[in-house]
Amino acid sequence: MSNPLKTVLLFGQPGVGKGTQGKILGTIPGFVHLATGDMFRGLDRESELGQEFLKYSIQGLLVPDDLTVRLWRQYVQGLIDTNQYRPDTDLLVLDGIPRSAAQAAMINEYIDVLRVVHLVCTDTDALVERMKKRAEHSNRPDDADETVIRRRIDVYHTETSPVLDYYDDALISNVDAVGLPGEILMCVLNAIVPAAKGRVGNPFG
Ligand code: ADP
Repeated sequence: MSNPLKTVLLFGQPGVGKGTQGKILGTIPGFVHLATGDMFRGLDRESELGQEFLKYSIQGLLVPDDLTVRLWRQYVQGLIDTNQYRPDTDLLVLDGIPRSAAQAAMINEYIDVLRVVHLVCTDTDALVERMKKRAEHSNRPDDADETVIRRRIDVYHTETSPVLDYYDDALISNVDAVGLPGEILMCVLNAIVPAAKGRVGNPFG
């Protein structure tokens, strides 16, 4: 990775809809969505790294920063090497990283943050219900147990929300995460597109 990667961060509490929005954004030409939760869940469960991930995630805890950032760098490099992500023209949509102030500092040299989209929902009980529903089809053990879900929300408040202080206020867009996916998408695009225009390539141009 030579030049800093043009990046948008999707930020917000567990269950707030980062994954839903990120997946939609990833279908737009020129946008590449990378979710660290998916990256970790893609590891072979029997492998050493896969076991390490499970050890933390089933308790609702964050994977240690060093391991997370090392894996993230390898993963990004893999996307570049296989032409799934072209840093010269594509916008990288990061979902789930950085998740601590230390991670923000560790990845800062690799990314040029054009915008931080902060999805906001203050109704914690609604988020918990959403994740319990998600567990029915997602096969995620960390969504099935309410104690673990609530631990993840606590971890978000103590370890992850300080990440917002790491970035300039002017870079942060607060988006109401309550509403129809299309409605929220409109607000997310309103935040991202003007920030990215002229900074990343046009895949059709
Ligand atoms: P959610 O946003 O619903 O909590 P994710 O799919 O983003 O779920 O993450 C699932 C789990 O993966 C986290 O609880 C954590 O254990 C691990 N994880 C994901 N991203 C990171 C990260 N940046 N740093 C440390 N752990 C992470």
